[in-house]
Amino acid sequence: MSDEQGPITGIVTPTRVEYTFTPGSASQRFLRAIAQKRLVGQQCPSCSKVYVPPRGACPRCGVPTKKEVEVSDKGTVVTFSVVRVPSQNIQLELPYVAAHIVLDGADIAFQALIQGCPADEVRMGMRVQAVWVPDDELGPTFENIRWFEPIDEPDVPYEQWKEHA
Ligand SMILES: [Zn+2]
Repeated sequence: MSDEQGPITGIVTPTRVEYTFTPGSASQRFLRAIAQKRLVGQQCPSCSKVYVPPRGACPRCGVPTKKEVEVSDKGTVVTFSVVRVPSQNIQLELPYVAAHIVLDGADIAFQALIQGCPADEVRMGMRVQAVWVPDDELGPTFENIRWFEPIDEPDVPYEQWKEHA
């Protein structure tokens, strides 16, 4: 057999991996609350930081966090990236923005999509608010928040969120 085309060194094939996530008690409480359009974190008894979503312990102090704190669905963009590469899982018009947002009342950022303005208008310090799915689609999932959109509030000065950047 001839080998005129050379050796095959690689192939492209679709793959799919499914996970079953078993939440701990802190995550369960968070997921039950988000099903009611409430964002509930936990506050560290030692350093007072509020974690959303909660993990049941403070990563800085190493102590359990039991006190629950409800935070706003408004927040501040602390960093972001403009996505120009299509993804099978995200059917948004390119380019779109993935941002780290610190919710009002929380001390840790989480990643979310930004819509409602051109990608080149997104900036650090910009004020945003969650856009929720319709009430009849709510469930115990972060997917209840479709994305965040800009709101008509002044940008937050760097000094107030620099530790999250
Ligand atoms: Zn702490």
